[in-house]
Amino acid sequence: MEKYWNIAIIGSGPAGFYAAGELFRQESWSIKVDMFECLPTPFGLVRGGVAPDHQKIKSVTKIYTRIAENENFRFFGNVEFGRDIQQSDLMERYDAVIYAVGSPADRALGIPGEELSGSHSATEFVAWYNGHPDFAELKFDLSAKQAFVIGMGNVALDVARILAKTPDELAETDIADYALKALAESQLENIWLVGRRGPLQAAFTPSEAREFLELQESDVVLEGGLLELDPESQHLLETEASKDTKKNIEILKQISERDTSTNKKKHVHFLFLASPVEISGKGRVEKISLIRNQLVKQADGSLRPQATENKIVEEAGLIFRSIGYLGKPLPDLPFDKKSGTIPNECGQVKDPENGNTLRMREYVAGWIKRGPSGVIGTNKQDAVETVHRMLETFMVEKMEAGQDVKSQDITALLEKRKVDFISFSDWKLLDTHEIEAGQAEGRPRRKVTSVTEMLAVIRNKS
Ligand SMILES: Cc1cc2nc3c(=O)[nH]c(=O)nc-3n(C[C@H](O)[C@H](O)[C@H](O)COP(=O)(O)OP(=O)(O)OC[C@H]3O[C@@H](n4cnc5c(N)ncnc54)[C@H](O)[C@@H]3O)c2cc1C
Repeated sequence: MEKYWNIAIIGSGPAGFYAAGELFRQESWSIKVDMFECLPTPFGLVRGGVAPDHQKIKSVTKIYTRIAENENFRFFGNVEFGRDIQQSDLMERYDAVIYAVGSPADRALGIPGEELSGSHSATEFVAWYNGHPDFAELKFDLSAKQAFVIGMGNVALDVARILAKTPDELAETDIADYALKALAESQLENIWLVGRRGPLQAAFTPSEAREFLELQESDVVLEGGLLELDPESQHLLETEASKDTKKNIEILKQISERDTSTNKKKHVHFLFLASPVEISGKGRVEKISLIRNQLVKQADGSLRPQATENKIVEEAGLIFRSIGYLGKPLPDLPFDKKSGTIPNECGQVKDPENGNTLRMREYVAGWIKRGPSGVIGTNKQDAVETVHRMLETFMVEKMEAGQDVKSQDITALLEKRKVDFISFSDWKLLDTHEIEAGQAEGRPRRKVTSVTEMLAVIRNKS
């Protein structure tokens, strides 16, 4: 009988699916994959992070669905590593495990007042408007007039754009119903995007910035008037700036030259060279203090922001910090607190507390491997590297399929523990239900946002 290598993948985001796809591409290996996901729904941040008005990007899930249809693939949704299954359960049942759990936490600003009510992480807000069941109950005070989004990456721009869109613009998306309702009642007039560096160093991509020029009821303003770069930045723009940076500067120029006397209800302000230093208020956010920065040339020729004496204090009712996602430690695995990643060498887990010994049967892929950077496609090369490292290790160590497998199939264990796991065909029932409910209203889908309801839909239809 053909002997299969049994691989467990934890997490069903892009990294998990690209790893599974690469495993199935290996013609000289017979491989079976079991994928475990803590939510009943697959696809990680493609469902719960990518903005609801970016549906084209979400169509990458078609590729993942094809991978899931491989006869040697099984999906176990609603199964959380660390709660329902432990590392030892997997080590007994699989030849190797790939952890692809992403970076669900966020970086703090580390300033006074950050904990006040009304100050949130972009992570929470994004998960809320995307209908992630763990965040569906959150409340955001959208009666505020001014919101500050701290950060100038694509996630910060997503948050500002969702806050700036009209109910009509949002109604065409698959934003969670409760978010659509809450945002329709929003009183926001000014949404500030705050970047500590200058326009040349902005981390957003041109396509994200361009969308601000097309908003129905929101104008966009570059604080400080016409875009003028300092001489050092101008020199860098002319000599070494990337294509995207040049495009960003063009778009910011366009923004700075716009007529803003259009009487639109909302304004999005791009504020460069400013860092928040304090959030204040009685019991809740009322004001934000920012310090202006200047760019200072470093020995290596780069420009870094440095605080000046110049302070701005603004009224603020809502603050979203968007300065980076961060991984969380997993039980029985090493963790590097500073980078928020699992220490690894080309995807193979290593133990810093044990002389950096490489673990033969444990691997990582995606954000938990390299940190929260890059687009969806970046996780493909990343997962390919991990898979090849794993197969090379199997060969170098002369391992054989099944040599360490001691126990029976995982389903018996999950049933014994009364874990209500769902399969990929179960997910497809929920998927169809959401799409049909959406189509009735001219929307791409209407998301179910509670695990109990998801399970009820699935069990009713199966
Ligand atoms: C707000 C936001 C918007 C983005 N927009 C874009 C975009 O428009 N275009 C683009 O190209 N990229 C975008 N990205 C980047 C892209 O989403 C990431 O590169 C990608 O999702 C990372 O993949 P991953 O598999 O490492 O992690 P994730 O996508 O986070 O997947 C991890 C999965 O693991 C599961 N999991 C976590 N812990 C456990 C556990 N203990 N047990 C079981 N399962 C677990 C999670 O539920 C999740 O499904 C965006 C990112 C964010 C945060």
